[in-house]
Amino acid sequence: MVKDVNCPYCGESISVVVDEQEAGHQYIEDCQVCCRPIVFNIAVGGDGALIVSVHNENETF
Ligand SMILES: [Zn+2]
Repeated sequence: MVKDVNCPYCGESISVVVDEQEAGHQYIEDCQVCCRPIVFNIAVGGDGALIVSVHNENETF
């Protein structure tokens, strides 16, 4: 499915494609607008819907 997220650096809305198999995973993809590396976290919510959260790479986990 396609999710819209906002870049943590420049705030631009970008679309990412995720699927259930990526749930629980984290990956980094460069912003299409400002080219900085966005950390994506894919999770599954209580209703089974995928949740995509984004962080800048300087945040610690
Ligand atoms: Zn950006």
